[in-house]
Amino acid sequence: MAHRIETIPLLSPGPGSERHLVVHRFGEPGARPKLYFQAALHADELPGSLVLNHMLSWLKAADEEGELNGEFVIVPLANPVGLANRILNYHLGRFDLAGDGNFNRWYPDLGAVAVQGIGGLLTDDREANTRIIHQALVDAVAEWPAPGEANQLRKTLLGLSIDSDFVFDLHCHGEGIAYIYFPRHVWPLYSDLAGDLGCRTILLHDVTDGTAFENAAAVAWSTIRRAFPDHVIADAPFTTTLELRGQSDVGDDLARHDASALWRFLVRHGFVAGDAVPSPDLLCQPTPLAGSDNLVAPVAGVVSYRRAPGDRVEAGAVVADIVDPSEADWHRARTPVASRASGIFYGRRPSRLVRPGQSFAVVSGSEELPPPDHPVLDW
Ligand SMILES: [Zn+2]
Repeated sequence: MAHRIETIPLLSPGPGSERHLVVHRFGEPGARPKLYFQAALHADELPGSLVLNHMLSWLKAADEEGELNGEFVIVPLANPVGLANRILNYHLGRFDLAGDGNFNRWYPDLGAVAVQGIGGLLTDDREANTRIIHQALVDAVAEWPAPGEANQLRKTLLGLSIDSDFVFDLHCHGEGIAYIYFPRHVWPLYSDLAGDLGCRTILLHDVTDGTAFENAAAVAWSTIRRAFPDHVIADAPFTTTLELRGQSDVGDDLARHDASALWRFLVRHGFVAGDAVPSPDLLCQPTPLAGSDNLVAPVAGVVSYRRAPGDRVEAGAVVADIVDPSEADWHRARTPVASRASGIFYGRRPSRLVRPGQSFAVVSGSEELPPPDHPVLDW
């Protein structure tokens, strides 16, 4: 089947301006499984966009050889709204400047609307039920009013992905190692993905709770399951967020490395024909997302790190000092910040200037920590 390229218009941000989303499709339209990949939803996180660019040519060649088992939908730049977020030549891609929040939050639970669409259509045929649920979810996305430009973008991305069997959302940290958010209920199925990518932190979390993009389908499926407890309903799609190091870790060598890792995963699971290589050894055991410590700056200042991303850190160890450079007393100038978790220091903000209350670094840990009792803007 020929490679198809779609150009989807987005809501205009103002008179005289147009934006659009470019979508690449490979494989037989409507074939299963449907695999959806997107990158740069946080528009200043570009490693994944290059990874997908590498995969485009490989997918095109495999498609021409009839080697794809399923339909592949690829969106290398998922956020044209955020890509245009420039202030005085600084690019900010995490939040909508018009006020509609973090681009990777506020995806609605469409399950309740889908339940109305499903009505009395379910049978005791699991496959038929999956088709009915997929259509109800697509219809529910179409019904979502999604006011404003950022929500219309969210709606467009959901419309492309909500009926997928696999969703790969490619992100990165400010500075960090390769790590992955993994659905707790799926583990260890597909855990080889973390091994292929060389992840040294694997964050297990409940995808049925939350408003991030990767949660959208699982939350809806959870709602649908609760509404129809007496019907056979397949598992929710496999959705994962891949964190491909830091914002500056962008280049063809790294992209080719990560694209090759994803390709090995796809071949091993039969989505692409080829000789499968064995599952790689995992470089770490998974830890709960709730076990990660978000280190918070108690004072304003300049961050001086004692440890680097990838380092093993024990609870109580000082990870960084917040320095007030105008304080003459060397010791008084420094406010040490220790990790509450024992694990891997897996990410930090690129800026070395922090304000009080700001989360600036993360350390994984196997013991769950109390949830924060205050809003953390940087999430
Ligand atoms: Zn992100």
